[in-house]
Amino acid sequence: MQTNSDLLARRMRAVPRGVVSAHPVFAARSENAELWDVEERRYGDFAGGIATLNVGHRHPKVMAAVQRQLGLFTHTAFQVTAYEAYVALAERLNAIAPFCGEAKTILFSTGAEATENAVKISRAKTGRSAVIAFAGGFHGRSLLTMALTGKVLPYKKQFGTLPGEIFHLPFPLPAHGVSVEDSLRALETLFRSDVDPSRVAAIIIEPILGEGGFHEAPRELLIALRTICDTHGIIFIADEVQSGFARTGRMFAIEHSGVEPDLVAVAKSLGGGFPLSGVIGRAPIMDAPEPGGLGGTFAGNPVSCAAAMAVLDTIEEEKLLERAETVGAQTLRRLEKIAARNDVPPICAIRGRGAMVAFDLIRRRGGYEPDAETTKRVTQAALAEGLILLSCGIHGNAIRLLMPLTIPFSVLDEGLDHLERALISAAA
Ligand code: PMP
Repeated sequence: MQTNSDLLARRMRAVPRGVVSAHPVFAARSENAELWDVEERRYGDFAGGIATLNVGHRHPKVMAAVQRQLGLFTHTAFQVTAYEAYVALAERLNAIAPFCGEAKTILFSTGAEATENAVKISRAKTGRSAVIAFAGGFHGRSLLTMALTGKVLPYKKQFGTLPGEIFHLPFPLPAHGVSVEDSLRALETLFRSDVDPSRVAAIIIEPILGEGGFHEAPRELLIALRTICDTHGIIFIADEVQSGFARTGRMFAIEHSGVEPDLVAVAKSLGGGFPLSGVIGRAPIMDAPEPGGLGGTFAGNPVSCAAAMAVLDTIEEEKLLERAETVGAQTLRRLEKIAARNDVPPICAIRGRGAMVAFDLIRRRGGYEPDAETTKRVTQAALAEGLILLSCGIHGNAIRLLMPLTIPFSVLDEGLDHLERALISAAA
C-alpha cells in the first residue's frame, strides 16, 4: 500500500514548494462529503476542494453527464468546432444572471481567467484601463489577477513589477476598525489623488470575501459602488468565484443585496469538480471585444460543460438553495455552542450566509488579537480527528466551512464533532 509519507517525500522532490497543500495526506477516492486517503483513512470534507464541490464529490448526475460526454467527444476547441453543450450552458447561465436585461456568457477554465477576462471585457467596453479592487480580496494568481488580489504575502512579494493602474480600497471590516464610510472616503481620495473616475474601467468586488475571511460586503457599500459606477460609466464586476452557485442560499451572493452587477465572474462549483469558469454579463458589454480577442484552447471544455449542466440541474432538483440555509443554520447553532465552552481557544465573529460559514480564533476573549498559530493547530488537529478543514482570512486566523450542500446530516454532525474535539485539543 502507498503511504502518505512516501508520497509526501516524492512530492517534495518532484513538485516546487510554491504550490502548497494544506494537509500532508493524499486522496485515493471520494464520495459526496467524504474522502479517503491512500492509507484508507476516511475524512469528512469541510473544504469541498476550496468551494468547488457544492454538489459534493462525484455527484451521480454529474458522473452520468460526464460519462455521456466522454462517449461523444472530449475536446474540439470551441474556437475550432463549436458544440451545443457550451451554448446550452451559456443560455442557462444567462437565464440566471443576477441582473435584468439581456445577458451573454463566455466560458474559460479557471477563476483567474474569469476575473482577468472580466477586466479585459471592461477595458474593451470603456476604452479605459484602471481597475479598482479591495484590500483582502482574492481574484487569482496570474499576473493581472495577482495585481487585483489585495494581499502581498504570499501572492505578490517575489513576482516583480505589477501591471499598472490597479488600485485598492479598504474593505469594510468593523471588527478591524474599517467602516463603509472609510472605504467610500478612500475612494474619494483615490479619485482626487491618483486616478480620475473617467479613466476607471471597472470596480471588482467579492460580495463575500473568500480567501479574505468570509466577510460580507455591506449592502450600503454595494449600493454606493453601483451609484458611483453609474455616475462615471464604470463597470461593476462581482467576483462570485467562491460565493456562487447556491453556497449562500442564493445562486449568487450579490442577490442578497439587491444590487445588480454588470459582469459576474464564476468558476469553482460551476463545474462540479471539473475545471470550468466564465463571465456572465450584460450583452452590450460582453460584445465589446473584437472577434478573436477572447477565448482559450481549453476554455469551456465540453466535459466540464456537461458536468455544469448537471450541477445546475442538481441545485434545482435537490433544492440546494434551501439546503444551504439549513446546513448553514445547523452549523452556526453548533458553533455557538462550541464557542461557549471554556476548554476551547477563544473564538469570535461566528458568521455565515447560507452555508458560507466561518469564525475567527483570537488570543483573548473580548479583544481582537488574531491567533494564526492556534488556527493552524486546529486544522491539523481536525485532520487527525478525520476532518478536512481550511483556514483563511487576512490574518490567517479564520476557519472557513465549505462542506458540500449535499452533505448528509449524519456526516455534518460527525464533522462538527470532529471540529469540536480539534478545538479542544488545540487549546490543550
Ligand atoms: N476569485 C475568487 C473569489 C477566488 O476565491 C479564487 C480562488 N480561490 C479565484 C478568483 C481564482 O480562482 P482559480 O484558483 O480557479 O484561478
